[in-house]
Amino acid sequence: MSDITKEDLSPGPAAAVDFIRAIVADDVKNGKNGGRVATRFPPEPNGYLHIGHAKSICLNFGVSAEFGGTCNLRFDDTNPTKEDVEYVDSIEEDVRWLGFEWTDEPLFASDYFEQLYEYATHLIRAGKAYVDSLSGDETRAHRGTLTEPGKDSPYRGRTIEENLDLFARMRAGEFEDGAHVLRAKIDMASPNINLRDPVLYRIRRAHHHRTGDAWCIYPMYDFAHPPSDAIERITHSLCTLEFEDHRPLYDWLIQNLPVPGEPRQIEFARLNLTYTLMSKRKLLELVEEGHVTGWDDPRMPTLVGMRRRGYTPEAIRTFCDRVGVAKRENTVDLALLEHAVREDLNRRAPRVMGVLAPLRLVIENYPEGQSESFDIVNNPEDDSAGSRKVPFSREVFIERDDFREDPPRKFFRLAPGREVRLRGAYFVTCTEVVKDAGGEVVELRCRHDPATRGGDAPDGRKVKATLHWVSAAHAIDVEVRLYDRLFTAETPGATGDYRSELNPKSLDVLQDCKLEPSVSGAAPGSRYQFERIGYFCVDPDSRDRRLVFNRTVTLKDTWAKIERRG
Ligand code: ATP
Ligand code: MG
Repeated sequence: MSDITKEDLSPGPAAAVDFIRAIVADDVKNGKNGGRVATRFPPEPNGYLHIGHAKSICLNFGVSAEFGGTCNLRFDDTNPTKEDVEYVDSIEEDVRWLGFEWTDEPLFASDYFEQLYEYATHLIRAGKAYVDSLSGDETRAHRGTLTEPGKDSPYRGRTIEENLDLFARMRAGEFEDGAHVLRAKIDMASPNINLRDPVLYRIRRAHHHRTGDAWCIYPMYDFAHPPSDAIERITHSLCTLEFEDHRPLYDWLIQNLPVPGEPRQIEFARLNLTYTLMSKRKLLELVEEGHVTGWDDPRMPTLVGMRRRGYTPEAIRTFCDRVGVAKRENTVDLALLEHAVREDLNRRAPRVMGVLAPLRLVIENYPEGQSESFDIVNNPEDDSAGSRKVPFSREVFIERDDFREDPPRKFFRLAPGREVRLRGAYFVTCTEVVKDAGGEVVELRCRHDPATRGGDAPDGRKVKATLHWVSAAHAIDVEVRLYDRLFTAETPGATGDYRSELNPKSLDVLQDCKLEPSVSGAAPGSRYQFERIGYFCVDPDSRDRRLVFNRTVTLKDTWAKIERRG
């Protein structure tokens, strides 16, 4: 494998070589690790995956695939109090849904607990770790600050024998939670606080979702992660920028432990999105406080939420590729994600006609009881998608917004006396407006021109608007859920509590929508373009006869506009 050259790779759009891929390519070229590339995606099973994780997944799995390497899925389950199998299961499902398959079985840091314990005793024997017995407050007082060095703990000079004994007794459960910790003995005066004798183990009587009650001491993430990488022979340990200051500790551990590999940590910038919260802790609060209906609420930035909303894995992958890998924190416009979704759905989603706010239109010169059907193409972007028959009859629904009794200057759709095209059917002219007692328009009366059958006038006359419609006699009634961004602030929580920035209009439920009958019986997850309106996806809440649709995205592409402006 060491003779792979850049030309041998079959790069996706991602491989417009970013700095990580450049480093990996260089290592491969130089025969580092025998030319092997092994990455891992290391989620903590304390929440559902979100779009930020998708970026890390695409990067780790993408790099390994491009270099003919492996990519592990490893759960970093070192913090038993917040973790749960529910999250393990969802994470596996989400990674698969995104289109990636990990090498071998899923792995768990907890599977290495015994080995990690061994490694810790190795450090003690080498005089590089000690049991400390300061209280929490004392520990903080000894730590120093960014500008002042820390102070050695009085317990730092414990003998190796004493440390081995205390550590064994910590494991055996002889001490209360918090009575002692195991710390690395590095340098309390280091300018890098992560090197001021970091805690390696703490006592915590907590039930672990995999190891049960076998342990009452648990390794810190910073201690568990580097040897876990090494045990798995990871070559490139890709993580987000907040770990940059931890890298010296990562390297110190790899150098000072008898581990079977020499992984290299490389940091990249997290994905931040406008109008989006990406902290698992806050997402959990949104769920627990009922601001959303669950982790899979279609307004959530979670992969389960986006899936339910109708986003495709392809669109998310394309988005991650386009965002690329940066060395500096940045925030990406949510419109770019929506743009990728729209682009993908435009290619794959069949078109149907659906009316969200129906207004009845009666075609007076169309015989009562008669109906016919028109062939309408399913997807102009995809010839192989064919066409379908759409029934038409004397009464159809059009969109309330497509009619104005008193049209403003630039309104070209239906108005009294005006002629428009009913898509694929006929030209119709509005002859009368029917109102209820309150003056609200409840029905339109029209005449159609039978010569325009199929939607074109043989005499070449033009109309300024083409409206979508649904035959009233054939329509199916559906519920439609319109989503908007969950937050009104571009950076939720930047100036205060993100709760005060929740968008009160993030969900609008329409109960009385009409769809053409070809859609009846559609399975949850089916995606459509409702012509002229947007993309929609069947929600799992749909019961037998009544379909529920989530609006995935509107048709209006704000990103395209941003791009044009340059
Ligand atoms: P926590 O605060 O719970 O640790 P986390 O977002 O870091 O949250 P992890 O489960 O530890 O969650 O993340 C798994 C992997 O995904 C890590 O490598 C992490 O760096 C990466 N990751 C998490 N959030 C993002 C993000 N917004 N952009 C890119 N990568 C991310
Ligand atoms: Mg993390």
